[in-house]
Amino acid sequence: MKTLETEVLIIGSGAGGAVTAATLARAGRSVLVVEEGPWIDPDAVEPFSLDEMVLKYRHQGASAALGTPGIAYAEGRCVGGSTEINSGLYHRLPEELADEWRRTYRIAEFTPEVLDKYSDLVENELSVSKLPGAPPPSSAVLERGAAKLGWRAVEFARVFRYDHQGRGVKQTMARTLVPRAVEAGAQILAECRISRLLKRDDRIVGARAERTLPGGETEPVTIIAEHVFVCGGAIQTPTLLQHSGIRAQIGNGLKFHPTIKVAARFPQAYDHGDVPMHRVTEFSPFLTIGGSASRRGHVALALADSGGDYADALAAWEDVVVYYAAIRSDGSGRVTALPGFRAPLVTYRMTDADQSRLARGLLHLGEVLLAAGATELYPSIAGAPVARRAEDLVEWWDAFTPSTANLMTVHLTSTVRMGDDQSRTGADSFGRVWGFRNLRINDASLLPDAPGVNPQAAIMTIAARNADEFLSHL
Ligand SMILES: Cc1cc2nc3c(=O)[nH]c(=O)nc-3n(C[C@H](O)[C@H](O)[C@H](O)COP(=O)(O)OP(=O)(O)OC[C@H]3O[C@@H](n4cnc5c(N)ncnc54)[C@H](O)[C@@H]3O)c2cc1C
Repeated sequence: MKTLETEVLIIGSGAGGAVTAATLARAGRSVLVVEEGPWIDPDAVEPFSLDEMVLKYRHQGASAALGTPGIAYAEGRCVGGSTEINSGLYHRLPEELADEWRRTYRIAEFTPEVLDKYSDLVENELSVSKLPGAPPPSSAVLERGAAKLGWRAVEFARVFRYDHQGRGVKQTMARTLVPRAVEAGAQILAECRISRLLKRDDRIVGARAERTLPGGETEPVTIIAEHVFVCGGAIQTPTLLQHSGIRAQIGNGLKFHPTIKVAARFPQAYDHGDVPMHRVTEFSPFLTIGGSASRRGHVALALADSGGDYADALAAWEDVVVYYAAIRSDGSGRVTALPGFRAPLVTYRMTDADQSRLARGLLHLGEVLLAAGATELYPSIAGAPVARRAEDLVEWWDAFTPSTANLMTVHLTSTVRMGDDQSRTGADSFGRVWGFRNLRINDASLLPDAPGVNPQAAIMTIAARNADEFLSHL
């Protein structure tokens, strides 16, 4: 069996893992990043394409949490993790929420000053910016519809760098912090899955892994490490910990932003290359309205989710754009590792209040799209009528039931919550797992709750803060 040695082992190379790797490598630590997915040139695959789903998504994008209703979810599985496939939208953790988390979970050094300092660092490094020019029509729809209704809408910043002609490139981890970590001396081992952490008393001494070789066969690898950061994301991190026999407050408390979509048809063709950057924030933080990727395949999926007669709209797919309503949820879920299986059992229970909030969000989404000039709306509810006028929307209220609503999410958090209140957290204020001296989590799992905004900003800010705190002990 092959054996590797490192000072710091980082498991996963997404938003949390890449920030950790770059911070520690630049500080002169010896760093090995192990990533289960492949290392794909960020320019090799068209964004939001089917090829991207096959190459960069876990299970090619088909994962679901069981529940009533069930909720489909997506995770990245490649060097750069979910940042390679996300829309790049970036929103700092709202200050009131950070304050609530600090008090509820007793998180040390979680003041606005500390968080602002690390957000500034992340934003300078990644070039977080707004569009240099006018928004594309698919995004302007939200602004226009909201203005007609007297609602608030804003353009969200994105992790994008623009050239002098205004062309933007998403600054994913594979384009930014992964190569910068390598420049600073970090090693990246792609297509290598950590299957179990090796424990001795209150320390992790290393990990067992399985590496996929170019011919497709696998080889077992043992990695010896002095310190371990698990950054596999909110589903895989608790799965690995549970498979390694670490279970206290690990995997419970899973949080989603449950999301429902509407395919909106307009009188003329719209743009499909980008994801709308405007959000209707009138009902924030509990309800947000925005736009999704709307390539031909996404439009087809959204229309199919409506279950109605959509053949005509599908034929005119260039006139159709997909939008969504997403909520902060009072419900929660659980990740349970199953002996002998790689994939965990994921469950999520939405409360009645969640379902009402999401149904209300769906109606507001319909209102804003009709106000902006959409002519036909296909909601992701099996059998719900197509809405053409505001009066039609009321029928969606009754049509929305746990068995008819097709829900999804791309925001997954809170399975190893952080804070000094050990009775409700899996890790301390800086992500160190209770009971272990050298095992840390540094990814979406640490967020004590769903942030109500796109989560990558909070994940990266917290990861930078925790990596710095780790360095201060060496
Ligand atoms: C389609 C989509 C769109 C999104 N849009 C946005 C957006 O616009 N804005 C925003 O803020 N957020 C967005 N998100 C969410 C955001 O990308 C994630 O919240 C964030 O990337 C999570 O960071 P993370 O470090 O926890 O995990 P990830 O970035 O998912 O990285 C985890 C990595 O760890 C690897 N890994 C897991 N287990 C193992 C193991 N056992 N061994 C080795 N490697 C392992 C995985 O393969 C993966 O590459 C989106 C997500 C998706 C899927």
